[in-house]
Amino acid sequence: MSTLLQVEGLSKRYRRGNQEVAALDGVSLSIAPGETLALVGPSGSGKSTVARILLRLVEPDAGRISFNGEALLGLRGAALRAIRANLQMVFQDPMAAFNPRATVAGLIDDPLRIHGIVGRAERPRAIATLLERVGLATELAGRRVHEISGGQRQRVAIARALATRPALIVLDEAVSALDVLVRADILSLLAELQRDEGVAYLFISHDLGAVRAIAHRIAIMDGGRIVEQGEAATVIAAPASATGRALVAATP
Ligand code: ADP
Ligand code: MG
Repeated sequence: MSTLLQVEGLSKRYRRGNQEVAALDGVSLSIAPGETLALVGPSGSGKSTVARILLRLVEPDAGRISFNGEALLGLRGAALRAIRANLQMVFQDPMAAFNPRATVAGLIDDPLRIHGIVGRAERPRAIATLLERVGLATELAGRRVHEISGGQRQRVAIARALATRPALIVLDEAVSALDVLVRADILSLLAELQRDEGVAYLFISHDLGAVRAIAHRIAIMDGGRIVEQGEAATVIAAPASATGRALVAATP
């Protein structure tokens, strides 16, 4: 099996006042091209810290990350930008991540421009194509972020992430704030995009129910460690860890 992302022995401590919090303690995981790995665990277990380290927003104290065969930690400048086009992120709340005054078209235009994906003259068409790709009417292009619904915002965030044709999208609680019907729509959109474009996902959620429909494999985190990982069906049918059993028991 070829590997797109390989994370080994990731550790991270945060200092809070004169106390140290071990957010991650030796986390290892891997993702194959076109695969969905769900990272599930209770709040505070370290999931977002993994995401922030992958996005190079936070530096780990120890560990190695290889993405597409290239060492990710230590990359700077143009080399980092080139990788960032290939490794995109969708957050829980696009309202917090984006300028609320930004327009839908502007948000999707950013990555096209920054990464030079298509020439200036081609960009309006590329934006329209991406909007269609995520099931949004092209009439929404001129709307501002605060003028569209939560589900529509998450579709815009997905279009923005897709604009650079990434090999991996990290989704951190991307469907957690959505009501169940909108959540189901977004999950089927993500599955369809994966089928059509072969994109891999690191799908992070505190809710096992949200990952069931999309995960190929599940890694369960608790207290900064991965306590169990395996095929999604196996983990859900017969969780091996106490945390896994508690998550399954809590999932309707
Ligand atoms: P999760 O996403 O699973 O809820 P996080 O990765 O956000 O967990 O947090 C893991 C642990 O690290 C928690 O104990 C959290 O309080 C702590 N933590 C996260 N970010 C910071 C920070 N910037 N400063 C101090 N502690 C932090
Ligand atoms: Mg989190």
